Amino acid sequence: MSSLSRAAVVAGRALRLRCPDCGGRPVFVRWLWMLPNCPVCGFRFERGERGYWLGAHFVNLMIMETMFVVWLGLWLLLTWPSPPWTVLWLSTIALVVAMPFVAFPWSRTLFLAFDLLIRPANSEDFSLPRERQRAHL
Ligand SMILES: [Zn+2]
Repeated sequence: MSSLSRAAVVAGRALRLRCPDCGGRPVFVRWLWMLPNCPVCGFRFERGERGYWLGAHFVNLMIMETMFVVWLGLWLLLTWPSPPWTVLWLSTIALVVAMPFVAFPWSRTLFLAFDLLIRPANSEDFSLPRERQRAHL
């Protein structure tokens, strides 16, 4: 598999909120609650570094800023020359407050996908899936 097609596959899995390594799911138990590892392949989502999710926060910020620019641009484009400033101001505040929560799962899976492309998984990144862990007890 070429690196470009591998990137497309991994990013596609991340966009569908699946394990970027195998495509397994679920990755999230609830909207803001991520499992520690993939239930299918055992890939550990937090890859052993302190502050690992800082990159996911950066992705979340980039998503929010992109949505802000698109939102503002479309509002101004569609309502120019007399934009409703109060509505625009209030709706933009609601958008920038809600967007980090809405984008949270994608920020994590997209960051994981990016990290997997830069730093491919090795044997230390895997632990046994929960079903197999129970079988070994
Ligand atoms: Zn997996």
